[in-house]
Amino acid sequence: MENVSKYFDSGETIANYQLDLEAEDGEFLVFLGPSGCGKTTALRLIAGLEQPSEGAIYFDGERVDGRSPSDRNVAMVFQNYALYPHMTVAQNIGYPLKVRGVPPDERDRRVETVTELLHIEDQTHKKPAALSGGQRQRVALARAIIREPSVFLLDEPLSNLDAKLRQEMRIELKRLQNELDITTIYVTHNQEEAMSMADKVAVMNQGTIQQVAPPQELYDRPRTAWVAQFIGSPPMNLFRGTRRNGSVDLGEAGTVELEGVMNAKAAVETGGRDDAGTASMLASDVHGTVALGVRPEDLTVSTTRPSSGNAIEGTVGTIEPMGEYDLVNVSVNDQIVNAKVSEATVARDDTVYLTFDDEDAYLYADDGELVV
Ligand code: ATP
Repeated sequence: MENVSKYFDSGETIANYQLDLEAEDGEFLVFLGPSGCGKTTALRLIAGLEQPSEGAIYFDGERVDGRSPSDRNVAMVFQNYALYPHMTVAQNIGYPLKVRGVPPDERDRRVETVTELLHIEDQTHKKPAALSGGQRQRVALARAIIREPSVFLLDEPLSNLDAKLRQEMRIELKRLQNELDITTIYVTHNQEEAMSMADKVAVMNQGTIQQVAPPQELYDRPRTAWVAQFIGSPPMNLFRGTRRNGSVDLGEAGTVELEGVMNAKAAVETGGRDDAGTASMLASDVHGTVALGVRPEDLTVSTTRPSSGNAIEGTVGTIEPMGEYDLVNVSVNDQIVNAKVSEATVARDDTVYLTFDDEDAYLYADDGELVV
């Protein structure tokens, strides 16, 4: 997609704004974002079900916007896929080939191949009503891939399934995509789904792409405060404060010295592209309101103030036992932040000190861009 925008309602609704994005051959690309951010519209533009207001879309270097969906060789599976109730599973799956005039024996062969691929070869004689939700979903996927499309487009295909089945289908879909090596574009608002399946995630907010990166990079280096607060469970804490030269003033919660954070980040980024630039920016440019980010899993909570290093003061609110860990809610100034600890040793209303390793801290400027 090259600078693709899509407007509705005579330009009043901006569904997509200047999307610039490339999916490699055979890649599993996920559009991830909250409801209404424009994911489905982006997918429909790729499918040819909508035309862009501005910009261009290419498949293998060839411009396709303006072409109809049937001229793009894409297959799309929606959340509410419809199977023909009067047809058997085999007939449902073979139907796209039938309408293209593929002879019955070849059709049968290809139905056999895809049903084996999706582990539904024992179900082919049944009608859809006699299948479980997961089996129906597999039939819908089989019907989409039997045409051997060059791009596979999936819009929240698992959201009608229960949690256990969704987990199973995630693994299944990923396996299928690996085996077929087919370029796949997948829309979801479910972070876990995106992180577990994607080669690359495009995080969207309000019609724009915030960041495109492999899952681990999104987690390790969220480029905007918005992405930082969207990725992770619970997401990153952002302590709002005021930058004063080499420190961030958090009011009554304390002051965080940035020198150690800067040095630690520069060390993490060895071989990195912009250490020098980062350091100089830190030294001068960023003043005023900033946000210091630390993930819940990187915070430690203690009732004693450490003798050295950065510490943020707060008051314990609730403590939620989550089984594998305890989630401690701490009130810092007027904000509630979360700390994930293996076993909470503090109690409600305790005054506590939150500490973290310098390399686990992030600094976001007033405009939300990552500084370091
Ligand atoms: P969800 O996760 O809720 O499905 P989404 O991220 O897929 O949301 P879209 O369906 O792409 O979001 O919608 C993006 C914006 O464009 C929304 O504000 C929506 O109301 C608007 N929109 C989408 N399609 C149309 C249309 N045909 N006419 C007018 N507005 C539309």
